[in-house]
Amino acid sequence: MLKLSKLPHLVALFAIFVSVKAWGRDGHALVADLAQTLLTFEAATFVKLHLPLEANGNMSNVSVWADNILYANTEPNYLNWRWSAPLHYVNTKDFSCVYDRQTDCDWASTRGCVDGAIQNYTTRLGDKQLDETQLEEALKFIIHFIADVHQPLHGGFASDLGGNSIRGDFFGQTVNLHSLWDTTMIQRKINTKFQSQRSLYLNYLIDQMNGRFGSNISDWSQCSSTNDTRYLACSSIWIQEDAELCCKIVYLDENGDWITAATGFNITEEYYNTRMESVELRLIQGGVRLANVINRIVHLINQTDGTNDTQTLSAASLPLIAFILICFVFFN
Ligand SMILES: [Zn+2]
Repeated sequence: MLKLSKLPHLVALFAIFVSVKAWGRDGHALVADLAQTLLTFEAATFVKLHLPLEANGNMSNVSVWADNILYANTEPNYLNWRWSAPLHYVNTKDFSCVYDRQTDCDWASTRGCVDGAIQNYTTRLGDKQLDETQLEEALKFIIHFIADVHQPLHGGFASDLGGNSIRGDFFGQTVNLHSLWDTTMIQRKINTKFQSQRSLYLNYLIDQMNGRFGSNISDWSQCSSTNDTRYLACSSIWIQEDAELCCKIVYLDENGDWITAATGFNITEEYYNTRMESVELRLIQGGVRLANVINRIVHLINQTDGTNDTQTLSAASLPLIAFILICFVFFN
């Protein structure tokens, strides 16, 4: 007989298999492309150097790599990466609207959630002891996870597996709440307003980012959490934003009633139009923060390199300076 005490483990295990994907291909590519426009020259050079050659320096080309490695048929060289599935999300307590790093992410022992993954891979990218393969993997994980963590249902409720077990209707199509936020609403927007072309939608989002949200960019780039300030990777704060969005708009229908696995949903034009604003806000915030984190890490790496270079140069120059001084004294 199934022991009740084992139930949370089984639920967690099930969650691993159904809720690993965040933003679909479009969402991930959009976040990466938005970030690409904000990279400093040194960061863009670093990214090009450490991404595989075929990516041609474009982060969007590797933005779903972390999803692909979970499935042998999409990335055959990465058969053993199934363990990384729980790193794509974290579950918060039902209706709590609060993220608690210690309990929700099991911080003290495993840190096995998207919060821990972002802290781990940003630290690794800044570690010059790592080899080229490890740096490339760290960079690809950061590009993916910082996008993931801005999809509100990646901080969604535990009992419905971040919206995966809530099914409903979206303009005649049966979908679950998680995939609605990952993929379906974005696709509808691209298809209905941008001639089914993601590049046109990207241009629109870039305009929004630099125009309407231009004055927010520096705020979004700050990190008030003292633990995570070194690389400006404020993942616990970003997940708290998810938890609040979940309670304010994601799990609420347009009448203010909770959407649960029991109620299901029937998405109206009003829900779609109003929630789409938040989807776009999160895509843009994800892009701004991804660029900011990479810019910061690369700046710190180059700063240390620069200091070392100066010291090396000074040491190497000493005999030359001594020689010039001797010549000066001798010939005078
Ligand atoms: Zn993911």
